[in-house]
Amino acid sequence: MVEKTDVVVVGQGIVGLAHAYAAVRSGRSVCVIDRHSRALGASIRNFGFVTVTGQARGEMWALAMRARDVWARVAPQAGIDVLQTGLTVFAHRPEAVDVLAEFVQTEMGERCELITEQAWRRDNPAIGVTPFEVALRSPHELRIEARDAIPKLRTWLEREHGVRFLEPADVIGCDAARVETTRGAVQGDAVFVCPGDDLNGLFPETMARHEVTRCKLHMLRLGATGVKLPSPVMADLSLVRYEGYSGLPTAHVLRQRLEIERREMLAAGVHLIVVQSADGTLVVGDTHEYGDAPTPFQPQDKDALMLDALRDTLPGMATDPVERWIGSYAWSPQGPWFSEEVRPGVHMTVVTCGAGMSTAFAIAEQVVSRALNTDLSEAA
Ligand SMILES: Cc1cc2nc3c(=O)[nH]c(=O)nc-3n(C[C@H](O)[C@H](O)[C@H](O)COP(=O)(O)OP(=O)(O)OC[C@H]3O[C@@H](n4cnc5c(N)ncnc54)[C@H](O)[C@@H]3O)c2cc1C
Repeated sequence: MVEKTDVVVVGQGIVGLAHAYAAVRSGRSVCVIDRHSRALGASIRNFGFVTVTGQARGEMWALAMRARDVWARVAPQAGIDVLQTGLTVFAHRPEAVDVLAEFVQTEMGERCELITEQAWRRDNPAIGVTPFEVALRSPHELRIEARDAIPKLRTWLEREHGVRFLEPADVIGCDAARVETTRGAVQGDAVFVCPGDDLNGLFPETMARHEVTRCKLHMLRLGATGVKLPSPVMADLSLVRYEGYSGLPTAHVLRQRLEIERREMLAAGVHLIVVQSADGTLVVGDTHEYGDAPTPFQPQDKDALMLDALRDTLPGMATDPVERWIGSYAWSPQGPWFSEEVRPGVHMTVVTCGAGMSTAFAIAEQVVSRALNTDLSEAA
């Protein structure tokens, strides 16, 4: 028997759920199909860090601002706790200070401030930070626990918005808005395919045209130390990785210095993000390794580099890992995301950088508005 609905979404990661949400806001009935009974991909393996400051200048920064607003509205309705807000970036080197000073002069510096070490220590006497030159404080970010938030979002869409999540099945073909799965067919007026880093599944030729490959990351959870961080934390290495900073002219000088002082970390794609969970444990990452078929192994030397990066900034917090995991996301050298009508009525959306949690709600609004000829951008 063929199931019927207005809209079919393939994938229950954040990109699929964001499309489902946009579609129900436009008044459509929605079915979601995923091969697993619960989300297992990048969307539950990340930091849960909805990051604005540091996103690439222009479109990505604007998308992140919008998506952050959607998260702020949806989270309380869906029972998702916002565990931390804002961001602190410590600049340990004078070259990093120059990057932050340039950053705050741009439009991306809106409502961000540079604070002295003395002022920061006065506000946060319990936190043992390595001496630094200046810190950037951003008010924009939100941090949720991704592994809890994604299932809660699913439950909320199901209960409050009538989204139907079908039995787990592989989607094996989509044509003229008919979706073939390993458990039968589903028909909809529009289909949104949100497959994450599934490169060789649906529409592999589209993935290949966008040169999509995978980025593999190592992640650690460290035991609680009893200290509460006021916000998520980044430091110098992030300023040469996150494009909102690394695209600034001054970042080049910082990179030259880091190439000498932290060569091994840069080679492993290590930079520092530290976020804190409700139980006080820290999620610390990450490494970056590119290729279409990453190995499932997590060598200790790379984890050790992450701990070294943490010691560079928060030495007292580098406790033993209590959990380790690997994640991977879709990545393309051509741009941070794409959405294409791959067949009439079938739209495929892939976030091809590591910023899907920070942008998916805004990307989905754009894609669904265009596909269903409706305007969701301003409606709250
Ligand atoms: C370790 C790590 C840290 C990160 N940190 C951050 C961060 O702090 N902030 C941020 O903004 N982003 C972060 N990201 C990136 C972010 O997690 C991703 O951009 C985002 O989760 C991608 O969402 P998605 O829905 O496209 O993919 P996924 O979450 O992988 O979901 C895709 C889903 O599609 C399903 N699927 C695919 N093909 C089929 C098929 N043929 N049939 C049925 N089902 C199918 C899969 O089963 C899967 O559930 C991080 C990523 C990782 C891995």
